[in-house]
Amino acid sequence: MDGRDRLRRYLEQRKELGESDLVLDGLSVEELLGVLGARRGAPRAAESMSGESQTRAAIPEGGGASRRASTGAPMPQRPAEQGSPQQPAHLPGTPISVGGPIAEAAAATFAAQYQTLDAIAAATLDCRLCGLYETAKHAVPGEGNPSAQFVCVGEAPGATEDETGRPFVGDAGQLLTKILAAIGFRREDVYICNVLKHRPPGNRRPAADEVVACKPYLLQQLALLRPKVILALGTSAAQTLLQTSTPIGKLRGQIHRFYGVPLVATYHPAALLRNPNWKRPAWEDVQLARRVFDNLAGNQ
Ligand code: SF4
Repeated sequence: MDGRDRLRRYLEQRKELGESDLVLDGLSVEELLGVLGARRGAPRAAESMSGESQTRAAIPEGGGASRRASTGAPMPQRPAEQGSPQQPAHLPGTPISVGGPIAEAAAATFAAQYQTLDAIAAATLDCRLCGLYETAKHAVPGEGNPSAQFVCVGEAPGATEDETGRPFVGDAGQLLTKILAAIGFRREDVYICNVLKHRPPGNRRPAADEVVACKPYLLQQLALLRPKVILALGTSAAQTLLQTSTPIGKLRGQIHRFYGVPLVATYHPAALLRNPNWKRPAWEDVQLARRVFDNLAGNQ
């Protein structure tokens, strides 16, 4: 693989993660990919990129031994169709705050009628609020400790999750389990779910109307759980929750607010499997989330 191929692969990964611009040369990812496809003349950038791809092992492997600290309701109407889910980027480095108190936000939705996590899960099994149920095999409402105060939120189920009806299984799920163990949580200590409860075909990004339709379930899950912190996994989840198009690289490392709940965004475990360079920042992010959790837990 020559430098040009490495650069293309790198850019495709960034694009896959939802990034539309790079601090590189003023070109967007799309434009640069177009240049690479149109002419074979970007060796300097490729060489530069290959030079920065030094592997940084960060997240401990193997079950987290290195952790240092503590251990049939009426269906609502389908929402109106909306446009693109793309939102404006915010000022880089500025934490984002979305929405008012989570309990009030959830109470204003149809999902407020579901007073337990099991009731929410049951409702998603028969949900027809968007078209995703038609192509998905199973609903994936979420799972975990109903008293969890640390909640992981991804964007949507993938193929394995669709097959099993469980969130974050497969290789990425196993890595998430290790990441959680590394900050002192067993998987059963936390709650894990997605914004969308059914898989979009081909793992495409959710449409805006699908997010609008499904979001009340997440709001009600969070209203019931009342977490100390949310760990948003991946570009798509972070951008959807925070209603921004800002790349994950500029969202991570900060404490945002999602309906009043502190939210730390980081790379998706599947992205970490593809690109070990992101393990170090991801490790920093999950440690930050753990500190937020510890600080808020200690203040009660
Ligand atoms: S993705 Fe959400 S809103 Fe759409 S059908 Fe499934 S549960 Fe309902």
